[in-house]
Amino acid sequence: MKIPVAKPYLTVEEAQSAYDTILTNWVTQGPRVQEFEEKFATYVGSKYAVALSNCTTALHLSMIVAGIKEGDEVICPSMSYIATANSIKYVSATPVFAEVDSTTYNIDVTHAERLITQKTKAILIVHQIGLPADIDAFKEICLKYNLKLIEDAACAAGSSYKGNKIGYHSDLVCFSFHPRKVITTGDGGMITTNNEEYYNRLKLLRQHGMSVNDRTRHNSTTVVREDYLEVGYNYRLTDIQAAVGIKQLEKLDWIIAERRKIAERYNEAFKNIDFIRLPVEPIDYITNWQSYVIYLKANSPVKRNDLMQLLLDKCISTRRGVMTAHREIAYKNYGNNISLPISENASDNSIVIPLFVPMKDEEVHYVIEQIINALLPD
Ligand SMILES: *Cc1c(COP(=O)(O)O)cnc(C)c1O
Repeated sequence: MKIPVAKPYLTVEEAQSAYDTILTNWVTQGPRVQEFEEKFATYVGSKYAVALSNCTTALHLSMIVAGIKEGDEVICPSMSYIATANSIKYVSATPVFAEVDSTTYNIDVTHAERLITQKTKAILIVHQIGLPADIDAFKEICLKYNLKLIEDAACAAGSSYKGNKIGYHSDLVCFSFHPRKVITTGDGGMITTNNEEYYNRLKLLRQHGMSVNDRTRHNSTTVVREDYLEVGYNYRLTDIQAAVGIKQLEKLDWIIAERRKIAERYNEAFKNIDFIRLPVEPIDYITNWQSYVIYLKANSPVKRNDLMQLLLDKCISTRRGVMTAHREIAYKNYGNNISLPISENASDNSIVIPLFVPMKDEEVHYVIEQIINALLPD
């Protein structure tokens, strides 16, 4: 038995949907992309959705439409996948790293507010491995200081905050459909928004700044001439990917329910081990369980890396907890004076354990048994 840390849930339905789309000969910026966008917007409860090539490009375009530029500061957690901070650098702005909360690992509201300066233009919050950050608290701060709010919801498709799906609450919410996330299109991304101006500009920017989209041109009975209104990008999602995404979206709530069952078994199995801190899910915050992360407290008899090796020896793959950007080489001229002890400690002592759908009962049982054996060897 070899147990991976994650794997996508793809079936013959996704394959058939891609197959059918290929045979229509319309393989990008066509009807499947539009359908995926409409269904995704309906699912989260937003007015609009714009499909993109991945979440990193979604974040980049969000920075642009939010008006972030050189000299501006954007507050974000360092403890996130590095694409979060990179998206701020793409527009020559400066990421200012905020600390996270030590139980939810989500961006700390008080610390973030303390980092606001004259140069701050936006706050980029991250829904850490699917668990929503406190969106309302950040909306309030953004209102008070006249800042833009951007949500890195790469991991949070299907998660909910105060009764609504992530994607509902604000005007630039960026999702990922990388295979490591809960649903996938191979690679892929989406921005949901209720702001029509953003919506129109995002559609321009993802397709070279072109004034006429392919569907309009295709359906027109008169000759259409396109203009290029600004310097745009090629950040398109293909119809083949969208065809997969439509099928994945239909399964999303079921996938989350299955993931929850596994997470609950882990919670139950580990709850009495006093040197493990388990993931939390505060009232009104519903995670999609994109990852199950356990934190080893200082009194753990086995250190994090040793536990990872012990489990690998038993054919169980794990990953380090969420990284910190400020300690990476790409940010080394940057992070010298930055100390984020809670983020660093959380990142260094946590481990992602296997969670995927379908995961057999025996597999869940085996993971639990091996973790307990490694930590409590008699
Ligand atoms: C995965 C991830 C991204 C990047 O998503 P891509 O679709 O791979 O570009 C960005 N932010 C966070 C928090 C992520 O987990």
